[in-house]
Amino acid sequence: MRQYILEKVNNSPNFIKFNGIEIEIKDQLPKDFDLKAILKNIEKTIPSHFFKNLEKITIEDNKEFKERSISAIYSDNSFIISPKQKNANDLLDDIVHELAHHVETLFVKEIYSDDKIKNEFIKKRHELKFEIQAEGYWVEDYDFDNIKFDKSFDTFLYSRLGRNMISMVTAGIFIRPYAAISLREYFATGFEAYYLGKQNELEKISPMLYDKINDLSTNNK
Ligand SMILES: [Zn+2]
Repeated sequence: MRQYILEKVNNSPNFIKFNGIEIEIKDQLPKDFDLKAILKNIEKTIPSHFFKNLEKITIEDNKEFKERSISAIYSDNSFIISPKQKNANDLLDDIVHELAHHVETLFVKEIYSDDKIKNEFIKKRHELKFEIQAEGYWVEDYDFDNIKFDKSFDTFLYSRLGRNMISMVTAGIFIRPYAAISLREYFATGFEAYYLGKQNELEKISPMLYDKINDLSTNNK
């Protein structure tokens, strides 16, 4: 495994470099957060080849976060992560989650071309449909075979069903409710689980996804 290098840039406290990735802190994290300790944790748990081509991580309070109730965004080899985090673990979760989206772009063929994860996901969507129906909801307006993010499906799950119901109907099918949103989030939530201490649970719930991440992790490219 390659060595991770953590260094200060321009002697500015708002810029650090981690493994060649620029980290810019535009909006300060809570005072008791130890970003270096979090990066150390990442260094310990995540293979460095996943960081290839990643250019920048910005800690910034973006207005999209509030509008969409999210706390991080991935685009074009960089992440923007909200400084508003409950605790250091939430920040670590966000970094690992966005890294998963980056890994998708690096290994899109390896991840998706054999359709194994897609088929596992669609099978789970059908199980989910059955569970939601069993709770008395009308589900025929939604396409459970659509693997892409769909606003109306998202609203159905999070606003109509609500947090408690969605937790209940996804239990045992998805590693966490958000995994049901789209194929991309299915992968990202699995990646998170794999690297943040839930390997056994992931292997049980999503064996194909587990195998895939396991292969990506060990086949150093
Ligand atoms: Zn995501």
